[in-house]
Amino acid sequence: MAKPLPPPRPRVVSSGEEALLGDAVVLTQLDKAIGWARKYSIFPYPFATACCAMEYMSLSMSPYDIDRFGALLPRFTPRQADLIMVIGTVTMRQAPILKRVWEQTAEPKWVMAFGACASSGGFYDNYTTLPGIDLIIPVDVYVPGCPPRPEGVLDGLMALQRKIQRQPHTPPPPPA
Ligand code: SF4
Repeated sequence: MAKPLPPPRPRVVSSGEEALLGDAVVLTQLDKAIGWARKYSIFPYPFATACCAMEYMSLSMSPYDIDRFGALLPRFTPRQADLIMVIGTVTMRQAPILKRVWEQTAEPKWVMAFGACASSGGFYDNYTTLPGIDLIIPVDVYVPGCPPRPEGVLDGLMALQRKIQRQPHTPPPPPA
């Protein structure tokens, strides 16, 4: 009986086109690659209701330049967005509208509570103000402040990007 062949030895290429290809090809897991792509291609839907919106506007200006994080282009329909930024006070009358916007947002989707009013109702302690949007929709990241500084919003955005990268993006394999 013939002896089994030994396993092939790895070939080291030190010159020519194949050597160049070795530097150009990156091997990774599909899940990590999708996570990387998703976290740098965020399309925010600004649900802006009050004064925090001024800070949101400054995020796209050159000193802060949110485009560095791949999250500049706002979409004004939830069907083309994946991040709902709730910016400002949400009243009880606006709450069903926010809930519907969240339901219409494409999957996968994330939510940022932008400022004290969206996170907790802020200093409004009355029957007309929703004391935190997490009473009606799930929130992924809270940005504190009244209003939050743009640096704080960028910090929250980076925290969300880390969360997106860690999430599973591909369905689990079927049971064997
Ligand atoms: S957190 Fe402050 S700045 Fe933002 S909407 Fe509320 S009151 Fe206005």
